[in-house]
Amino acid sequence: MIKVLEKNIADKIAAGEVIDRPVSIVKELLENSLDAGSDSITLQIQNGGKSYIRVSDNGCGIAHEEAETAFMRHATSKISAAKDLNAIETLGFRGEALASICAVSRVELITKTKESKTGCKLVVEGSQVLENTVTGCPEGTTVTVRDLFYNVPARRKFLSTDNGETRRIVDMVSRIALSYSDVRISLINGNTTLFTTQGKGNILNNILTIYGKDLGDDLLPVDYRVNNCVIKGYVSSPGKSLASRSRQIFCVNGRVVTSKLLEKSIDDAYKEKLFAGRFPVAFLFVAIPAIKLDVNIHPTKKEIRFDDNSEIEDFVKEGIKRALTVKESIPQIKNDLKGKKSQDRKQVDINSLLSTLREEITDRVVLEVHEEKEVYNEPKGIYPKKPAYRPFDIDSVKIIGTLFNTYILGNDDDNFYLIDQHAAHERIFYERLLSQYNAEEKTQQRLLVPLNFNVDAQVYATEDMWIDKVRDLGYDIENFGSKTYIVREVPAFIDIIDAEAFIREIFIEFEGKQNLSNKGVLEKIIMRSCKSAIKGGDHLESEEIDGLLKDLKACVNPFSCPHGRPTFVRMSKYEIEKMFKRV
Ligand code: ADP
Ligand code: MG
Repeated sequence: MIKVLEKNIADKIAAGEVIDRPVSIVKELLENSLDAGSDSITLQIQNGGKSYIRVSDNGCGIAHEEAETAFMRHATSKISAAKDLNAIETLGFRGEALASICAVSRVELITKTKESKTGCKLVVEGSQVLENTVTGCPEGTTVTVRDLFYNVPARRKFLSTDNGETRRIVDMVSRIALSYSDVRISLINGNTTLFTTQGKGNILNNILTIYGKDLGDDLLPVDYRVNNCVIKGYVSSPGKSLASRSRQIFCVNGRVVTSKLLEKSIDDAYKEKLFAGRFPVAFLFVAIPAIKLDVNIHPTKKEIRFDDNSEIEDFVKEGIKRALTVKESIPQIKNDLKGKKSQDRKQVDINSLLSTLREEITDRVVLEVHEEKEVYNEPKGIYPKKPAYRPFDIDSVKIIGTLFNTYILGNDDDNFYLIDQHAAHERIFYERLLSQYNAEEKTQQRLLVPLNFNVDAQVYATEDMWIDKVRDLGYDIENFGSKTYIVREVPAFIDIIDAEAFIREIFIEFEGKQNLSNKGVLEKIIMRSCKSAIKGGDHLESEEIDGLLKDLKACVNPFSCPHGRPTFVRMSKYEIEKMFKRV
């Protein structure tokens, strides 16, 4: 028999779609508070929000006569006519949140507008208004949600542990707090204040408040603009990376979003600067004309899409790359003898809460689609006035000696540097081989005594696949009967010993390979072969050091070896002075 569902059952089902977890309630309430123009919002949760959520703001409030209406489905003050849908600037607009929340929990609303002398209090449980009274209260709105799913036990089963739900909430609130840097946002878990942002628009300050001061020293400012696309924010220096993307936070045109494209742009910008499986920290605030966003994307999608992927990708990549050319991007040796201060310990809590969570970012992207004029907003917030883009100049390093036959020592005005000979050599070798490979003209040196190689049967059998590649690298190689090859010329820029070691390594790498036509595969093979070919631990004469640094300077990516190990590390004068207790 087909039956129309009773209203309260239908409500519960509909609510379940909007409200699946405590974090969705917190998010809806937080967004309402932001929409209400609040500049101070306090969020409190208990038991991961399952038993208690309170969001308190100093926004515009709700007039007493409208308070009950606010809990009705499709009740919203934010749009009135359908045409408004194209010009939505608020976070909410469907008028569903309060209705859905009160269908599955016990809600108390206390609110007062500026105009009204008194406020009002409503108690709504399972969509039933139990109380509607006048009350004295400050301007703004406080919504308290208790006993989520008390009337839908089946839904409770799908919730995770208190900690699990807490983590989701902390992650979501953190991201929103960052993107609303001019709103003071405080998050309290049980009796512990996890963070309170200043609300003064200072982005760096907010990042450090929310994610911990430890991050601070290693963040490099990003500030780049092309036409009317702007990217600002902070990224970590390559020395500081994480095992996940948990600290990659994107805000596009004021909205927290996820974006595979932005993730890829970051990866590309850090290419060869990090080991595989390591991820930089990135807080990126992007402002682009709305026209460049894919207008077909549904407003509830978390993932943002751009109209022209390669344009945005290049733009973001370039912005980050510039941030990575400064001296500050060289990994720093720090005096860490003092241990952590108590302030930091509190921070560690949040970090450990957040560390395992990434999968669910429930933020909604609302697109601003304006027909006639391009909407363009500078990223909000205060960033350093003039980010110090002083690209690091290797020439400014004065060489003062060597250490353990492995490291070159140098300094400039405010830093002491250690340069890993082996990593530097590897970087130079790799880039030269690659550019030789890509060049039409090869520069070769003729060997007085040709080299002979024996390869295994498999490599021999696949000669067609690799022999031209090896020639493209600058080796004059020829089969000399059976599994023997003879090399008469090697690349001009390599020591003959290195050239020989490299080709032996590359033969080992060729074993078992099916296809070398993929450029990425070949680059990896070259990279690995460089690593084994170059041996460290040689004493270098001062002319050799000069030559090495000159060659390193000519590299596209001088600060790390091809596998992501740093070529340079530095210790600032300040850190040294700190160790000697001079400061
Ligand atoms: P929506 O946000 O989509 O309009 P909601 O159900 O979240 O729908 O809220 C319904 C209405 O209640 C809002 O349109 C707004 O007028 C009012 N409201 C909700 N929360 C607040 C708040 N914190 N401050 C002021 N008004 C609010
Ligand atoms: Mg809302």
